[in-house]
Amino acid sequence: MALDEETLNQFVESVRRYVRDRLIPLEMQVAEEDQIPEDVIAEMKEMGLFGISIPSEFGGLGLSMSEEVAIIQEMGYTSPVFRSMFGTNVGIGSQGIVMDGTPEQKEKYLPKLATGELIGSFALTEPDAGSDAGSVRTSARRDGDDFIINGTKRYITNAPRAGIFTVMARTGTREEGARGVSAFLVDAKLPGISLGKPDQKMGQKGAHTCDVIFEDVRVPANALIGGKEGQGFKTAMKVLDRGRLHISALSVGTAKRLIDESVSYASGRKQFGTEIANFQLVQAMLADSQTEYYAGKCMVEAAAKSFDAGEAVSMNASSCKLFCTEMVGRVADRAVQVHGGAGYISEYCVERFFRDVRLFRLYEGTSQIQQLVIAKHLIRNAEHSPG
Ligand SMILES: Cc1cc2nc3c(=O)[nH]c(=O)nc-3n(C[C@H](O)[C@H](O)[C@H](O)COP(=O)(O)OP(=O)(O)OC[C@H]3O[C@@H](n4cnc5c(N)ncnc54)[C@H](O)[C@@H]3O)c2cc1C
Repeated sequence: MALDEETLNQFVESVRRYVRDRLIPLEMQVAEEDQIPEDVIAEMKEMGLFGISIPSEFGGLGLSMSEEVAIIQEMGYTSPVFRSMFGTNVGIGSQGIVMDGTPEQKEKYLPKLATGELIGSFALTEPDAGSDAGSVRTSARRDGDDFIINGTKRYITNAPRAGIFTVMARTGTREEGARGVSAFLVDAKLPGISLGKPDQKMGQKGAHTCDVIFEDVRVPANALIGGKEGQGFKTAMKVLDRGRLHISALSVGTAKRLIDESVSYASGRKQFGTEIANFQLVQAMLADSQTEYYAGKCMVEAAAKSFDAGEAVSMNASSCKLFCTEMVGRVADRAVQVHGGAGYISEYCVERFFRDVRLFRLYEGTSQIQQLVIAKHLIRNAEHSPG
């Protein structure tokens, strides 16, 4: 544990209070204006949220995975756009540097990522390379001591605010697949970088994505994470376990909120002369959601403990991501059902959450990609019996 129990409990409690007192009342405004107020971003920086996963020697809180899961469940109780604002700094925007960066790269970037002074974005996806991430076409060609980057990245979260992009680009041949991909730390202000127009998304208004276009962008060789070519994919895979547990915890937190909203609505809404909470068919929906929420919570907390113990968790991290993100989709669907027609009206937050949580099944590896990862581990680790 990075924090003693009392300090952790206090931090969890302060995030819980902040979510309820400050963020939930702002949800509607943020969705309508498609913007998080700047003072809220400043407050989240002040609370240390941008640096929860960055080691304390670089100014972060250095939380263990279990501690991060506890905090992110609390953040999941409100609109996911607030978490998205610091999510890239906590996840792949910083963890590649934490795990594989050179001492100079750590010194240069981690302290600023930890405070939120610098926003890190992760640029992997391309128009023709999504799930098949090893097929990226963006190229990084050696030119003396430098590399020249060319290519287009798609749906890049926080790109409009980013000060630094972790760019996955091909230094090897197409035939080398993932082995020919390297990770670069690219200053967003470099000449040759431009942004596409903001994507109009189904949900998560207030979180922004767009294309990032690289045209003959010259970066020095020391921009290569870890200083080694062809390691980019290995770095990405290492940080993915953490990211998948993070999204699972977020899904669990949102499921809790949706259940609370559903119970509250069902206890107030009357039909046939009584609260709809008294109808057993409504109770069944609530009970199913609570059961699935509890299963997801237990899963992600157990996998986080196992991560902290240094055990191999890739299969379980994918199982958590698959189950928890699909689970919150079902919970959101039931929440709309419990609300009846009101569930389809944007005045009620379940309508917004229904759209917001749809993303969890798509990014950081779709549900199908998680299934493939789980099956790959199962088959590889199978003990073949002679019979
Ligand atoms: C709001 C948002 C934010 C995002 N943020 C980022 C970001 O910050 N950085 C970044 O790099 N990317 C980001 N992404 C991209 C995201 O990670 C990809 O969209 C996702 O990985 C899926 O890739 P794709 O869209 O190309 O879908 P595809 O890979 O084209 O998949 C389409 C469908 O085919 C299925 N499929 C594909 N391959 C297989 C297979 N082998 N077996 C079975 N089914 C398969 C998929 O599961 C899916 O159902 C973001 C996307 C969104 C929408």
